[in-house]
Amino acid sequence: MTADPRPDLLSFTPDELRRALEEHFASRRQPKYRAGQVEKWIYERLVRSVDEMTDLPAAERATLDAEFRIDEPVPDTVQRSEDGTVKHLWRLSDGELVESVLIPTDRRLTLCISSQAGCAMGCTFCATGWGGFDRNLTAGEIVGQYRASRRWADENEYGAISNIVYMGMGEPLANRKAIQPSLTILNRGYGMGARRITVSTVGVVPGIVELAERPEQFKLALSLHAPSSDLRRELIPLEKRHPLPEVLAALERFDDGGGKRITFEYTMIDGINDALDLIVPLGDLAQRVRAFVNLIPFNPIPYQPWGPSRPERIKAFERGLAARGISVAIRETRGRDIDAACGQLRGHTLVKIDRKRARSEV
Ligand code: SAH
Ligand code: SF4
Repeated sequence: MTADPRPDLLSFTPDELRRALEEHFASRRQPKYRAGQVEKWIYERLVRSVDEMTDLPAAERATLDAEFRIDEPVPDTVQRSEDGTVKHLWRLSDGELVESVLIPTDRRLTLCISSQAGCAMGCTFCATGWGGFDRNLTAGEIVGQYRASRRWADENEYGAISNIVYMGMGEPLANRKAIQPSLTILNRGYGMGARRITVSTVGVVPGIVELAERPEQFKLALSLHAPSSDLRRELIPLEKRHPLPEVLAALERFDDGGGKRITFEYTMIDGINDALDLIVPLGDLAQRVRAFVNLIPFNPIPYQPWGPSRPERIKAFERGLAARGISVAIRETRGRDIDAACGQLRGHTLVKIDRKRARSEV
């Protein structure tokens, strides 16, 4: 397939979009307000093609379409869990597949989006990590998951998306060229409050620093899983490049202005990272950066014999942390029956591994 050379309207930040449209319409001797018309179609009515922009004259639609594309992922499959969780598999323009998940709770509708097709970080407990890395998503492909999910939620009476988490496939801070503009677009283009958007990282230090330096109050989740470098090394290969002390120092740059902005995600694996004597060091780290701690039962994956910590052990962690003044919650697993739970997202990567295996057998 030859790549479409037209720039993607969904990948522009609001400022870039305004500039590109004004230039375009100026060259066509069209009034300035045409740019505002197109912006409305993009950000408010979520159109998927220039053709749908019916208040533009037909000739303007044709020339706009000749210069720009709207590259929104298209639904491949959708699965709905017994608990209401919905997993979408999206097909990108080059055929890659990525997943996003809608998670309804009492007062919220959270959308979990992917930032890469696959992931290069190779964490030993994560199905995405085992599948390897395919490619980075563009800002438009990241934002496109939100647009398409919002449309689906509307049509299926799920209500408005209240929160977005970058916790799908991939390591967002290893794709900063697309993540940074995607945050700006969701926030300023689509009006999603910065404090309702959480970027989850396994600890890419330069990315954490960049995020801390932004003026908006985006939230950050650190997938910690181990309160010491020795243990972290066994679970997260990135420990070699960005050791835990360096990650903590980067987190200290976050200004929380009184409200919590950092969450520690701690996936509890039976016999691996759930020893009772880890509670104190974990609590110390949380105290240091005023982090909220989410305890997550490990979701078994096909590549490891590990199981989740026993419920009593998870409760013991919760009690121990709370007793030390840490805000802590146990996160229930959602969408397990459709493989929509954390770390289960793998797109077509399983198939790819099978293909590789098949090749090595011939
Ligand atoms: N790469 C980013 C975001 C995607 S992973 C990151 O690692 O933070 C989203 C979350 O799922 C992370 O907190 C990750 O640690 C967690 N996760 C991965 N595999 C898991 C599994 N098998 N069980 C439970 N949580 C898992
Ligand atoms: Fe990548 Fe996150 Fe999975 Fe690690 S846990 S392999 S960083 S998606």
